[in-house]
Amino acid sequence: MILIDGKKVAAELREELKQEVNELKTKYNKVPGLTVILIGDMAPSQIYVRNKEKSANEVGLKSEVIRYPDTIEEKTVLEKIKELNNDESVSGILVQLPLPRHIDKQKVIETITPLKDVDGFHPMNVGNLSSGYESSVPCTPLGCYLMIKKIEPNLSGKKAVIVGRSNLNGKPMTQLLLKENCTVTITHSRTKDLKAECLEADIIVAAVGIPELVKGDWVKKDAIVIDVGINKTENGLVGDVAFDEVSKVAKALTPVPGGVGPMTIACLLKNTVDCFKRSQK
Ligand code: NAD
Repeated sequence: MILIDGKKVAAELREELKQEVNELKTKYNKVPGLTVILIGDMAPSQIYVRNKEKSANEVGLKSEVIRYPDTIEEKTVLEKIKELNNDESVSGILVQLPLPRHIDKQKVIETITPLKDVDGFHPMNVGNLSSGYESSVPCTPLGCYLMIKKIEPNLSGKKAVIVGRSNLNGKPMTQLLLKENCTVTITHSRTKDLKAECLEADIIVAAVGIPELVKGDWVKKDAIVIDVGINKTENGLVGDVAFDEVSKVAKALTPVPGGVGPMTIACLLKNTVDCFKRSQK
């Protein structure tokens, strides 16, 4: 069984991006810039943002974090986003979620210009992705996709089953695999026989949030299994896939932690570089 080492794949991607940023610097005499807006002082968000800033600096991006207290008015945040939309030194804008309740998440997402939407959440990018056009793609499914391609470069005709239909993970994952000519089934909490669906799959991507939902006897021999789930349990962090059982049948599997997680941030950097490149065209 191949244990897909997300840390290693992410480090390789960061190295490629570092070189690319250097080349862009020589060509355009400027570097891509990522601006993150962080509202409030929730511990997980603080950690995510610190990691994003550290990784951005590591590949040579210009990075900036704008911090607001959780009492900040929505209109101040929207004004700041509009200012960043017009700032040529900013290639990518990310507003760290979740937001305080008095701030409308959708309004925030739609205020970021699609050209700088490094999270790929703007309806224009969602539409472009589903139409097969160039777009920013949400970082976590993009990371899953890149890991699957490392294992199996030609995905044409493969049967993929996506477990979970969130806008963040399941739906964009479906679009990415469709684009690769996979036959994709998207499953969710109302799916009648999830085990039977999974057993058909050459590729399973589990993004549910239920510890060890996907069992060993749900997986076809030699399937590729990507575990997006991050669940805190009394036994520590576990994914949505029963790792010990599934590792006995799968061809390749991502661990939790150390699988999809590290790729998510690396893909944010990739999206920032890609937004910069598109803005220079
Ligand atoms: P979500 O809660 O938005 O969506 C969960 C989906 O699972 C829903 O579509 C729901 O229909 C489906 N579902 C629920 N119960 C089900 C069941 N019994 N059978 C089949 N489907 C079922 O979740 P999300 O934001 O997509 O996150 C999913 C998991 O991925 C969470 O554990 C989250 O922490 C993790 N996550 C990890 C990363 C990362 O970087 N590794 C990033 C984002 C989310």
